[in-house]
Amino acid sequence: MQSGNDLPNGSRAKYFGQCAVMMLNALRQESDADPFSEVTSIDLSAETVPGHEGIYDQALSNALAAIVAAEWPGEEANRRGRVHSARDLLKVIAEKIRSDPATGLCVIPDRNADVRSRWVKENRLPEGFWDTQIDVDLLTDALDVSGLARHGGGTGRLQHRHVQALLALDRHPTLRTLLEAQSDRDAELAQDEDARSADQARALLELIGDEEAERRAESADNPNEYHPRHNPDGHDFEECPVCGHETFCAQGMDTWGRVAIGQCVVCSYRRGPRVADEEGFGEHVKWLMGTD
Ligand SMILES: [Zn+2]
Repeated sequence: MQSGNDLPNGSRAKYFGQCAVMMLNALRQESDADPFSEVTSIDLSAETVPGHEGIYDQALSNALAAIVAAEWPGEEANRRGRVHSARDLLKVIAEKIRSDPATGLCVIPDRNADVRSRWVKENRLPEGFWDTQIDVDLLTDALDVSGLARHGGGTGRLQHRHVQALLALDRHPTLRTLLEAQSDRDAELAQDEDARSADQARALLELIGDEEAERRAESADNPNEYHPRHNPDGHDFEECPVCGHETFCAQGMDTWGRVAIGQCVVCSYRRGPRVADEEGFGEHVKWLMGTD
């Protein structure tokens, strides 16, 4: 088995990136019980509406084929190369993995458990968080329900627990698409917000003119001035990336302590936690690789 140190560089960066996502998301959660509830509830959040059955079946078939192909290459298809149905793929899994007598789940243990254990501990994630838990009975039930609904024969609907059982497959290393998609989407929204704030700041600067900006910069008070006794968590002003004045008020730092979260008191540009984290992560990686 490969340890984290045997991985090629690209994979290491990717692995680190995954951990970053995991950390950031875990930090955002108030509840320890399900640190990824935010992530695992995207798009398919609550009750399903009619018509979702087909999407569910597609998602399940693809996920199961990917998992079986990754775990037991060749077993995902019949002798003529035709990929098994979701129902048959579930049977393959049930044959390969003895289900846990207590929970009824078939568990594919996390291959990187030893590498990950530090992160898991630091983020107080439940043990086995990265294991892939496959609820064969519940997923088979979901296929029954959705099949009936699709053929107009049943009144049953897919329920939240069916969706959760599907989303739980995302833990498998061959998938992890939800985690990544959520992370990408968050990053995109944060970048949009950042760009909007910079635009507003530039418009304000144009409105007040250089002289007035200069005057404001000179007379600016730092509302979060560092003081060893009165404000030990304070920060000195930093240079603002938009107006260039030394008037960016840091109200906090990114996860790596490298990039400030806060707002410029002259031009009003505001940098949020997510963008600070992205930039801080970039600087942190540069520092790790000695290219800082
Ligand atoms: Zn500024």
